[in-house]
Amino acid sequence: MKPNEILWNTLPKQKENGIKKEDVSYLVFQDDEIGDEHISTSAETPLLPDAFVMSDETKIEKIAEHFRAIMEILGLDLTDDSLRGTPYRVAKMYVKEIFSGLNPKNRPDIKLFQNKYKYNQMLVEKDITFYSNCEHHFVPIIGKAHVAYISNGKVIGLSKINRIVQYYAKRPQVQERLTVQIAQDLKKTLQTEDVAVVIDAKHLCVSMRGVEDINSSTVTAYYSGKFQEESYKNEFLQYIS
Ligand SMILES: [Zn+2]
Repeated sequence: MKPNEILWNTLPKQKENGIKKEDVSYLVFQDDEIGDEHISTSAETPLLPDAFVMSDETKIEKIAEHFRAIMEILGLDLTDDSLRGTPYRVAKMYVKEIFSGLNPKNRPDIKLFQNKYKYNQMLVEKDITFYSNCEHHFVPIIGKAHVAYISNGKVIGLSKINRIVQYYAKRPQVQERLTVQIAQDLKKTLQTEDVAVVIDAKHLCVSMRGVEDINSSTVTAYYSGKFQEESYKNEFLQYIS
């Protein structure tokens, strides 16, 4: 079975909803296909060298000014009670909430524990809902992440897996990069190669504009270490189906 078929078989809800296999785009990453050097450059969010020199407060002030200008150019009357606070609200939401994952100081603090239970099978954290934003249109990407790892002697609090997903989602993103960033972080944090990440997401830039396709969703997957072996991969895919 090809990876695409395996992935398709893990998506029963989409089949029930009458979504055809052709409607789903699949992107499967294997470590050997990407290559180490490629990952270290392309998996990183393109940032300016002085990205975090300015304080959050100054960023909010400046973004609010610019957002006000955009609204005025669109012809909106900012003296209206309902619109007056919008530039500041949007700026604060950008910096403190939906793009807060750009700043490394907001990365969750992760404590590792000794694997006392000697549990050496895969651990799967599935259906982690996330909200991100497409970096090409700045409209939402809404999806679910499924993550698995096999402990190399260290374990991580379950909620921390969720927090790592949220941290990388809170950036202007592309789904491929989000998938790789989550996997790379977990590999580094857990000091193991045995990590898998599958993301199934809807891109509002595809549904609310452009081709206006409300049915399609995008699946991306990253497998490394033991998860490149068919048996581990299939076991993981069975759990998330
Ligand atoms: Zn887009």
